[in-house]
Amino acid sequence: MVPDNQLLLWQQCFMSTMNEDKYEAVIGLEVHAQLLTESKLFCGDSARFGGEPNTHVSPVTLGYPGTLPRLNREAVVLAVKMGIACGCGIEQTNYFARKNYFYPDLPKGYQITQHTTPVCKGGSVKIQVAGSAARRVQLNRIHLEEDAGKSLHDQDALNTCIDYNRAGVPLIEIVSEPDMHSAEEAYAYVTELRKLLRHLNVCDGNMEEGSLRCDANVSIRLKGEKGLGTKVEVKNLNSIRNVKKAIEYEIARMIELAEKGERIIQQTRSFDAATDTTFALRTKEEANDYRYFPDPDLPPFVVTSKMLDAIKATMPALPEALVEKYMHQLNLSEYDARAISDDKEMVDYFEELIRETGHTKAAANWLLGPVKSYLNEQHESLGSLPVRPPVLARLIQLVQDGKLSFSVASSKLFHALLKSPEADPLQLATDLNLLQDADEASVEEWVESVLAKMPEKVAEYKKGKKGLIGLFMGEVKKASGGKADPKIATQLLTKKLGS
Ligand code: ADP
Ligand code: MG
Repeated sequence: MVPDNQLLLWQQCFMSTMNEDKYEAVIGLEVHAQLLTESKLFCGDSARFGGEPNTHVSPVTLGYPGTLPRLNREAVVLAVKMGIACGCGIEQTNYFARKNYFYPDLPKGYQITQHTTPVCKGGSVKIQVAGSAARRVQLNRIHLEEDAGKSLHDQDALNTCIDYNRAGVPLIEIVSEPDMHSAEEAYAYVTELRKLLRHLNVCDGNMEEGSLRCDANVSIRLKGEKGLGTKVEVKNLNSIRNVKKAIEYEIARMIELAEKGERIIQQTRSFDAATDTTFALRTKEEANDYRYFPDPDLPPFVVTSKMLDAIKATMPALPEALVEKYMHQLNLSEYDARAISDDKEMVDYFEELIRETGHTKAAANWLLGPVKSYLNEQHESLGSLPVRPPVLARLIQLVQDGKLSFSVASSKLFHALLKSPEADPLQLATDLNLLQDADEASVEEWVESVLAKMPEKVAEYKKGKKGLIGLFMGEVKKASGGKADPKIATQLLTKKLGS
């Protein structure tokens, strides 16, 4: 007899795979990214994260009567950079609108945003989900807007406190078409967006500090249907993992409702990270009417073709182009090329490194090997690594010249350089007595001592077990502390073993 609960489990598994085949999820994401400008979108207040509450606040930020906004040009440049990277059309003549609503964190009573003329239109972002072919997620728009302040509910037992430091910080909102069909695709999409934003220095992508935030719109429909189902919007997801979990939960919840014959209601929901579930915040009936109208205080801004060309000229090669370059010009494997291109700091370091050394394959191996493991162990980033590219390049050269074995270089000299990053690698290796011994006499001593210690292995070798050469080499390396020149050691070993 099969126990009841086992049967139930089978039934559930069967049902859920059946339902996944029956329904298709439809997902569109709205991603807000704080721009890395010094000052706010419409005044000179600092746009930095944090600071004592209400210290980055001038009368403009606070919306005092008589103040006037003035557009931060750099914010436009950053938005356009992201647009170019995503292949968007760039709007020439742009207007700002007022989006009116009342909330304590919004001192003016309206948010300045782009309504009818997003600075970037269309475009797409390439994603890759394991096991599927790469595809492009279509974008609807990228527009500029200002951030709101922050309500703090945990500072005072009875009152909500307001910090206006964030009010007026420039944002871009990247709005995708409803063009994703699984939580994995949404995960890959946000990962890719964050990579691009960081690569272009448009946004630091720090989701914990809220400089990158995501709202997920989710609906389901029967497979094969073309129309869109009723959507829910899950607000303010603050990690890529939570984006995935919230969507997974929503899809399952909606399928369950549909299977029970219940109606899905258009809702705004929130994600509870403690339980990995979502809960309703408000329904469509309570939706705001924002009474958009063009902001009369701001003249239209124009992105001229001259400005566009100037922006393009300052943009770094995009990650995809770097993968191509590393694979086809530098002969790196696709895995290595992607591992470097995925990380902006890695790209910057690597690009500088290969300007200093022609040994590009070795440079990639160093970066993805010893350097990366050191950084992982120390929880440090490449930007703060004391050993800078010119010094690492000289270290690589020592290994290439046979002056130092890779293992001694990576296990000893690299660590010594971390402590004395200004030192000359050759000098330091000499001082620490790490240089490889190419002097035949000393290598011979190591070889002889090893062979003397292993008479049985020597006999086996002589009977034909030639693979033992690796063991002897390893022992010579050990005996010499990695200093024996491997070429000379091999020659001497084979000579002494008589083959
Ligand atoms: P709203 O006016 O409610 O903000 P929009 O049409 O502007 O809705 O779309 C906001 C986001 O929701 C976009 O990313 C869009 O792709 C997505 N979206 C719209 N309709 C659906 C749907 N039925 N299912 C999933 N996502 C949707
Ligand atoms: Mg929305």
